Amino acid sequence: MERKTVKLQGLNIDTFNFEDALNYASSISGQVVTINPEMIDNAVNNQDLANIINNAELVIPDGIGVQLGLKILGYNVKRIAGIEFSHQMIKRCAENSQSIALIGAKAEVVNKAKEEIQKEFNNLYITYVHDGYFEDDAKIIDEIKIRQPRLVLCALGSPKQEEFIFKAKNLLPESLFIGVGGSFDVWSGSVQRAPKLYQKLGLEWLYRTIKEPKRFKRIFPTLPLFVLKVLKEKFIPRGV
Ligand code: UDP
Repeated sequence: MERKTVKLQGLNIDTFNFEDALNYASSISGQVVTINPEMIDNAVNNQDLANIINNAELVIPDGIGVQLGLKILGYNVKRIAGIEFSHQMIKRCAENSQSIALIGAKAEVVNKAKEEIQKEFNNLYITYVHDGYFEDDAKIIDEIKIRQPRLVLCALGSPKQEEFIFKAKNLLPESLFIGVGGSFDVWSGSVQRAPKLYQKLGLEWLYRTIKEPKRFKRIFPTLPLFVLKVLKEKFIPRGV
């Protein structure tokens, strides 16, 4: 299976459907980025982050904003929820007796997430768990190296998780790393995912904003501005 990427704001985004993305990810090692408009916006102003994304082994369009941006440019690519994708990757590891590591969020959150995942997949090997509030990346990478997990889920927020994974992936050439944002908060039960209807309509962001109004400031200008920037990209090519 080969990647087919398209460019959005100068960033490579994969066009796999959900099943193909899972199959592809199962066959590779390296970095999976679950990209959203906020991250794209950051990458446009942060060349290091843009390089990390463009050197990632897989970039999945997480959310309706990226799907819409791609649509404006004429690409019909369906969004893949990063949290759902990661859940399916965990399932595959359980089925294939492969081990996983969980890094990120507060200690009680990641421990509770581990418990919940273990409950669902009771024969899964979760061989390393660490909270996301550490200073010494090298120490954590050394600890992961001892366990050699197949799948490493990193919930450090962006761009911290992307930077951490970029450093770690060369030292763990057999592992697949996914930046999973707030997924541990959901799996631990600390934060509720939007009801199915919101998910289906691509309105998870709206639900999260209603539940957590302080996100409004973060999300609200980002989405419409992102759409404007993509429209500009469509009608005025980059560099003009
Ligand atoms: N987080 C972390 N270390 C940090 C900053 C954040 O582990 O230094 C965790 C935070 O506890 C949360 C996750 O990163 O569980 C994602 O944070 P946020 O909701 O801001 O990310 P988003 O998914 O919105 O990008």
